[in-house]
Amino acid sequence: EDRIQKISSVIRVIPDFPKPGIMFQDITTLLLDTKAFKDCIDLFVERYKDKNISVVAGVEARGFIFGPPIALAIGAKFVPLRKPGKLPGEVIREEYSLEYGEDIMEMHVGAVNAGERAIIVDDLIATGGTLRAALNLLEHVGVEVVECTCLIELPELKGRDRLGDKPLFVLVSAS
Ligand code: 5GP
Repeated sequence: EDRIQKISSVIRVIPDFPKPGIMFQDITTLLLDTKAFKDCIDLFVERYKDKNISVVAGVEARGFIFGPPIALAIGAKFVPLRKPGKLPGEVIREEYSLEYGEDIMEMHVGAVNAGERAIIVDDLIATGGTLRAALNLLEHVGVEVVECTCLIELPELKGRDRLGDKPLFVLVSAS
């Protein structure tokens, strides 16, 4: 599809960021292209409207860019999933492993209710550890995660496998 081609073409790749050997997919250049950014949101909205989804959960930080416009357009609430110590209220947390070391993801208690239908949004899936942690958080409180969704997948890292049989929808595959 034309829109996807255009979106793919305005994602900038920066070699050796944040460290040597990493080809960083930079979505800030997509945000500068008003048509491509809107197309990107529209593609998600077309997929998730009329699916009875009441929660869009966004992963810090770039899930906070794409999640809220999708949530507004489909009439869902936006729930931020944050790095530790950022949310002021009572939280539940999920610890997860990164390539080097551990991290923690937090969500406010009471932000979602058991039985709600959610999607989880981030900009990119690499190893899948981040989305797996987000999935665990939401499932822990009885939310039904309909799908995980990202702009970009790095398929060589097989992050999709970490999600088990949970569907993953992406716009662009990168290598
Ligand atoms: P994972 O947990 O799947 O290994 O890593 C995904 C997380 O790392 C996402 O939250 C994503 O924002 C970030 N990330 C890893 N590599 C990249 C990259 O090349 N570009 C961007 N924009 N984010 C990345």
